[in-house]
Amino acid sequence: MPPAISRIVQNLEPSATLAMAAKAKELKAAGKTVYDFSVGEPDFTTPEHICQAAVAAMKAGHTHYTVASGIPELRTAIAKQYKSVHGLTYTAQQVVVSNGAKHSLHNIFTALCNPGDEVIIPAPYWVSYAELVKLTGAVPVIVPTQESNNFKLTPEELRKAITSKTTILLICSPSNPTGTMYSPEELGALADIVLERNLTVVSDEIYERLIYGNHRFASVATVRPGMQERTIVVNGASKAYAMTGWRIGWTLSPANVATAMADLQSQETSNPSSISQYAAIAAIEGPQQCVEQMLVEFAKRREFVRQRIASIPGLSCPDMAGAFYAFVNIKSHLGRNYGSARVDNSTQWCLTLLEQQNVATVMGSAFGAEGYARISFATGLETLQSGFDLIEAFLKSK
Ligand code: PMP
Ligand code: GLU
Repeated sequence: MPPAISRIVQNLEPSATLAMAAKAKELKAAGKTVYDFSVGEPDFTTPEHICQAAVAAMKAGHTHYTVASGIPELRTAIAKQYKSVHGLTYTAQQVVVSNGAKHSLHNIFTALCNPGDEVIIPAPYWVSYAELVKLTGAVPVIVPTQESNNFKLTPEELRKAITSKTTILLICSPSNPTGTMYSPEELGALADIVLERNLTVVSDEIYERLIYGNHRFASVATVRPGMQERTIVVNGASKAYAMTGWRIGWTLSPANVATAMADLQSQETSNPSSISQYAAIAAIEGPQQCVEQMLVEFAKRREFVRQRIASIPGLSCPDMAGAFYAFVNIKSHLGRNYGSARVDNSTQWCLTLLEQQNVATVMGSAFGAEGYARISFATGLETLQSGFDLIEAFLKSK
């Protein structure tokens, strides 16, 4: 008999974003041309000066274990960046560097949650939040938001969701999967309730550098006095610096939480890659034009995607203030056949689109919102052009 899997892991959903990306990769390996809008991963290669810093680190012998929570130079650089960009003061000891922001989130929930605690997660939400909460024995409380309100949690919705067991509110702004972003005033109204009800906020700010047009990012930690002490900020190198494979994420938090997460990480994974940490210093302290250049490209793609979605009958999506996702309402295209395939929900729609047109997207249901599909536009304009032609042909098919 093979070993039994624990109940907690049996109960875990695999990551739908990574599952769709794996399906797309399989088709590519089988020789198909695939238009892959599944995973949220910049298609740019990591900027040269960052790669050079990694090579230099290896040559300088930085190939050993480091302090579990990250080398002091990197933690200092991260603290300095948050001070200069957001005006938030943190010491290097309040920064914990981990193996990607996903790992940072795992550390946060493990360090803060007790079994039975309730964590409020506004939907649509990024696929990993609820599962990482479940791993701790705490309960993800999914609170649906309204498309008419750009999928942003309102104070009334938050109030209704809070119980005596609520300990954490999760905020992801700009949002994966919707690309919408809270204004400082909207965050302030939520923060008033957080302060009144003595909650902690986990603020996922990984897309904070990827903001379009006149939109301005604000961290929830800044919107009211007292918020920084009850906010755990999550960020990382993956998105802004096209460093997904290097696996560097970080948190900025109150000192006691940082110490708890550092202790946890020292038992769990030890340090994140020493070489990646040196590369991350170059990313943060080096020239930032690379971020600007990538943002210019993302902005062109966003505009293209916005126009294509608006031009296709029955599709709509909210205005993307940041990140690189369109969360497309496909409801009017469900409940019918596409060739011989019956398509009643977002999973069937995404799988049929992949099967019939080789276009990979992610089903809204994986983000807690049925009737939508997420399109990542972290891919070249030509691919987007061909992919949208195929989506349009798919929608016209009988
Ligand atoms: N948070 C959000 C909202 C994300 O989209 C991602 C992307 N994977 C992550 C966290 C984790 O990023 P990483 O682990 O690559 O740092
Ligand atoms: N955050 C990206 C996405 O949502 C990367 C994949 C993942 O870690 O989920 O597609």
